[in-house]
Amino acid sequence: MSNKWVYLFEEGKADMKSLLGGKGANLAEMTNIGLPVPPGLTITTEACNAYYDNDKNFPSDLMNQVKEALQDVETKLGKKFGDSKDPLLLSVRSGAVFSMPGMMDTILNLGLNDTTVQALATATENERFALDCYRRFIQMYSGVVLDVEHDDFEHILEQVREKQGAKFDNELTPASLQEVVEGYKSLVLQNTGRLFPQDPMEQLEGAIHAVFESWNNDRAKIYRHIHKIPDNLGTAVNVQSMVFGNMGSDCGTGVAFTRNPSTGEKILYGEYLINAQGEDVVAGIRTPNHISTLQKEMPVVFDQFVEICQTLEKHYRNMQDIEFTIQGGKLWMLQTRNGKRTAAAAVKIAVDMVDEGLITKDEAIMRVEPEHLDQLLHRRIDPEAKLTVVTTGLPASPGAASGTIVFNADEADARNKAGEKIILVRTETTPDDIHGIIAAQGVLTSRGGMTSHAAVVARQMGKACVCGCESIRIDYAKEEFSVFTESGAKQTFKKGELISIDGGTGRVIDGEVPMLEPELTGEFQTLLTWADEVRKLGVRANADNPEEAKQAREFGAAGIGLTRTEHMFMAQDRLPIVQEMILSQSQEERQKALNNLLPMQQQDFYGILKEMSPFPVTIRLLDPPLHEFLPNAEELLVEITKLNCALEVVAEEEKEAIRTEIDNKEVLLRNVRQLHEFNPMLGHRGCRLGITYPEIYAMQARAIFQAVAQLVQEGFEVEPEVEIPLVVHVNELAHLRKLVEDVADAVSAETGVTIPYTVGTMIEVPRAALTAEDIALKADFFSFGTNDLTQTTFGFSRDDAEGKFLGYYTENKIITDNPFIVLDRQGVGALMKMAAEKGRAANPKLLVGICGEHGGEPSSIEFCHLINLDFVSCSPYRVPIARLAAAQAVI
Ligand code: ADP
Ligand code: MG
Ligand code: MG
Repeated sequence: MSNKWVYLFEEGKADMKSLLGGKGANLAEMTNIGLPVPPGLTITTEACNAYYDNDKNFPSDLMNQVKEALQDVETKLGKKFGDSKDPLLLSVRSGAVFSMPGMMDTILNLGLNDTTVQALATATENERFALDCYRRFIQMYSGVVLDVEHDDFEHILEQVREKQGAKFDNELTPASLQEVVEGYKSLVLQNTGRLFPQDPMEQLEGAIHAVFESWNNDRAKIYRHIHKIPDNLGTAVNVQSMVFGNMGSDCGTGVAFTRNPSTGEKILYGEYLINAQGEDVVAGIRTPNHISTLQKEMPVVFDQFVEICQTLEKHYRNMQDIEFTIQGGKLWMLQTRNGKRTAAAAVKIAVDMVDEGLITKDEAIMRVEPEHLDQLLHRRIDPEAKLTVVTTGLPASPGAASGTIVFNADEADARNKAGEKIILVRTETTPDDIHGIIAAQGVLTSRGGMTSHAAVVARQMGKACVCGCESIRIDYAKEEFSVFTESGAKQTFKKGELISIDGGTGRVIDGEVPMLEPELTGEFQTLLTWADEVRKLGVRANADNPEEAKQAREFGAAGIGLTRTEHMFMAQDRLPIVQEMILSQSQEERQKALNNLLPMQQQDFYGILKEMSPFPVTIRLLDPPLHEFLPNAEELLVEITKLNCALEVVAEEEKEAIRTEIDNKEVLLRNVRQLHEFNPMLGHRGCRLGITYPEIYAMQARAIFQAVAQLVQEGFEVEPEVEIPLVVHVNELAHLRKLVEDVADAVSAETGVTIPYTVGTMIEVPRAALTAEDIALKADFFSFGTNDLTQTTFGFSRDDAEGKFLGYYTENKIITDNPFIVLDRQGVGALMKMAAEKGRAANPKLLVGICGEHGGEPSSIEFCHLINLDFVSCSPYRVPIARLAAAQAVI
């Protein structure tokens, strides 16, 4: 028995996606639940893979199976493919397992040639329509299969349009269309040296071939790369009988979402065009009508459409993205899939569907991708701000963005790489602009609707987008656009000038605008509460000041997992004192500087502990090497050299002052050099500093405990956790624990307050993990510092690796993920698991958490759940993401 490469739609099911592709499986499902779907067949992804395994040759009996299935379709419709009286026409559509919108090419009206086009005209008594199909077919087929430039066709079309004085394609007369067809055919001959293929079966084979090939076109590859879709899945091919939306005014084509994909509101959302075909709606050729006007134009079709949408939502229990065509007042379904949506919509739809009884709370939690929430945690325009609104377009993708105007994708990409914020402005975008959209903060287009390419892509990426802004006129040559503003004046914006867009309202605003920080509201709050009920992991935040602590609490953090004290040392007014402390030549001098720092640090800790009361706050004592607080040696040298030069030219009486300055700088330089380390990350830092300069840690401990005493006296409940960084040996921790305890006792004696506190350590070096059972005896808690633990386990310097070789490693699959982003379960994770187990075995009360960047990354959070950590800690803005991811890890 040979393989079955071909399935009729009625032979498939929704759960056969990996074999039939997403589109094919859903066409099959719709066929089988009795919806009106034009009959057709699906060639399997296995056939595509066999094609690639077999040196890009079709499996031997593929075409036979296709012909056999096609006969079935012909019988159903009473038409024959290639027939010279009433020809059956086909669409050839790619369909990958994961939908890749606009990434691969569809060919419509296949089967037309110089003979069948006449037959179609006669059979339908509609010559204009037949020629319209033919010119579309030649263009699509030549573009996709024969590799002829799309623009050359557009050029011919435009010329004919101009000659006839037609504004839109659908106004072209049969004579004009005939001219277009002839122009197209000679273009193909010129470009390929061959006549346009007339044999329908040859056309079909060519199209199938091209769909297989499109699996590996650049657009598809980039899309898979961005969305982490494996390269070896292959695409299915759907061969479907055509229905026609371009036959007249009782025909049309459209796309719709069963709910608003921007906001999630339960309202049909979509667009359609009368007398149009295929991608016309999405391509932004004419600006389409809103679906609601269909109710007036074709009430019967509209009612049927609403009913089908409801059926589909109930059946799939999810919001659907639907493509349909109306031919002669009859509705046909051409595609359905779970609709892409903004994070806001995802959250609202998930919560609403629980209320509607369609899905469970657990399902709702799983419906929202944690990373996606990032979008909701973005900034919006300050409603109080005074705005100069220039004009308004369609609110295609929410969020606000400001940036400089750029008109092409390459330049957007280049400027963004140079650190600039960009708003990409185009008449419309195509998949070729993807890199420009990625590079931009937001996208503004002058044509196309809410389902245009720019809108769909921006929503998915969570970028602001305003589209169909028809009042702006873009002049690519001059690199500017002009607009009649709402006050009626004409204004011109040039490349490089600043604008802002508000994708939630469609506003285009002159200049940069003030933005507000995000907050959790309504359904988002509800969903996270459900997540909290399910999750086992605690979620804390990394925060270095009271403002961050406050933000973290608002986002639901129950404590701080890491406060980095060095960030407080970097402040403008403190750095000189810190430098004084570092450079002091005696212990007395150092103590003096430390005494100056003490009240400042105390104030810092007071603020954070108070903000987080009654939750725990982990405070890490000074961690980085000291030279990070000193000026750079090279810069000092330059300054000294300049002073020496000045010495040559200044008047005698000024020399003395300059000499003193040179002396001072030379002393500083000597000190900086003395502190120089070949490998500072592995050098004199962390607890090694604390042990060799005990007065630094003693000052910090005192600052913490005095703040605690003050807060306790004021009636606050506080829970400070003093954390010792970079411990590799239990004796380091034992030594410093004693130091901290002594300070606590002293402060307690001075204030009469019993100081609540615990002492623990970061586990961030393999030796610490390997000897966790010893270290745990001296620790109340462990916190995995997975940034350093990853560096030291891999032996990769993070600062160097990411720029030098890690990119190459991940691109070439030497390793799958950047271990600094996604926790390396096999290596770093194994150390964590072991350390947690050994630590808890030695000290059952040991609290174990993670505070590296990984603490906010969903797959790493899942791992933390699996090894039973007590909590994850991440940046305040990732707290909601962590809450959701922690719940998903349980479900
Ligand atoms: P994509 O994956 O890019 O959405 P599709 O295969 O869905 O590509 O095809 C794009 C459009 O072509 C459809 O939305 C529909 O308008 C049109 N189309 C595809 N097949 C047919 C068909 N059998 N009859 C009429 N129009 C079709
Ligand atoms: Mg489609
Ligand atoms: Mg560290």
